[in-house]
Amino acid sequence: MRYLSTRGADKNLSFKGILFSGLASDGGLYVPEKWPQVDYEKLKKQSNYSDLAFEIIHPFMEGDIENTILKKIIKDAYSNFSRDEIISFKNLKKNEKIIELFNGPTLAFKDFAMQLIIPIFDYYLSSKKEKLNLIVATSGDTGSAAINAVQKSSKINIFCLFPKNRISDFQKKQMTTVHGNNIFPIEIDGTFDDCQNIVKSILIDKSFSNEFSIAAVNSINWSRVMAQIIYYFYSLIKNDISEKDLINFSVPTGNFGDIYAGYVAIKMGLPANKLVIATNENDILDRFIKSGNYSINEVAKTSSPSMDIAIASNFERLLFELNNKSTEKTSKYMDDLRTNNGFDVSEDQLNLVKKLFASKRINQDEVENLIKNTYDEFNYVIDPHTAIGLGASREINNEDEYNFILGTAHPLKFSKTVEKAIEENIYSSDITHGDFKEEEKFFSFENSESKVREIIKNNVNK
Ligand SMILES: *Cc1c(COP(=O)(O)O)cnc(C)c1O
Repeated sequence: MRYLSTRGADKNLSFKGILFSGLASDGGLYVPEKWPQVDYEKLKKQSNYSDLAFEIIHPFMEGDIENTILKKIIKDAYSNFSRDEIISFKNLKKNEKIIELFNGPTLAFKDFAMQLIIPIFDYYLSSKKEKLNLIVATSGDTGSAAINAVQKSSKINIFCLFPKNRISDFQKKQMTTVHGNNIFPIEIDGTFDDCQNIVKSILIDKSFSNEFSIAAVNSINWSRVMAQIIYYFYSLIKNDISEKDLINFSVPTGNFGDIYAGYVAIKMGLPANKLVIATNENDILDRFIKSGNYSINEVAKTSSPSMDIAIASNFERLLFELNNKSTEKTSKYMDDLRTNNGFDVSEDQLNLVKKLFASKRINQDEVENLIKNTYDEFNYVIDPHTAIGLGASREINNEDEYNFILGTAHPLKFSKTVEKAIEENIYSSDITHGDFKEEEKFFSFENSESKVREIIKNNVNK
């Protein structure tokens, strides 16, 4: 498979190439030249998650990794998910299912990608005896998933930027109490977007990022999207749902990575009807679906912090598709976004989006009610992000259809909000997470790119 940048400067790149560079030299995002097609009947015969994963993702790495090695990496990646099953399902109302994507080591869906791609990095590094420095901006869950996955690596150092007072205490401790000498959590007095901007700026500075062998594992890294395609297929296959049924997925959305993976799955042959963009008050995508205008607002701080973003970074990939893969047009839109704070798409383009996507914004009061009602009615505790997915699904989807909701995090990660909603303590004896015994260690700065560069320089893995 070959890859190109949505803005046109880079073309004909390998999977390995785009894995390591993350962001294109023109600031664009990498996309595959074409969508491999799956044979849905054949997929249905795969008996477990790892085999299915291999079938779905190997075309994206064709020519860049041997099949036997990839199979082993996939198998190992999902062997340390804590529950009996890599993915479990919880049935609520009739044909309404939560896809529990929080059985991994850090209790959010981000583990699906991180546990897979860090070993792929390691594999490439060991074959060339190289070292790597990963840099990541996180709204909470990406950072802990990345740190957990990197812990075991002797070839990778990780620098993880998170926004001060804008992630949960649990999320913070998941990052700051892991004391490897290759782990550097950095608190920034700013928003997630400030963290993201520092990361982008460092990545674009090729002399710096090449000198220190820097790569990124943000949600814009194609390999993360790739790893998230798998569970859309898995959900249908595991639940034995026929292609003829109308199937919807509601996705708690921030950076548009997880739901874009659903879009890719559909392009590859997933028989789905609708993808519901479920947002919190940071509703750039909901406003876009309503008006065709994509424009940046200030970030609001909410009870679903992993979705507190001003820009949905991966949306550029959909924009590229909407413009029939024209890199010129995509660049023009992204220029407008930078200079005018926004842009409008045409009515035809918006109609095209609406064929597949619907959207709904759910506010914090609704989130609390959803958590409470779900507990009262089903004796089941959901986290605030999943609640947004559930709320949006119920508003948009028809009850006669199959409605999947991506359960993106375990409620323990957001215990403050959840316990307030259900008026009960959610810690129980069978849960070993959350008793952080180690002392917290991290850097803390004002929003300063130069400080981050200094930390990297002083602590690089050479
Ligand atoms: C990252 C995250 C999201 C948003 O996913 P995107 O790919 O950024 O749209 C939703 N919920 C949780 C719990 C997350 O960690």
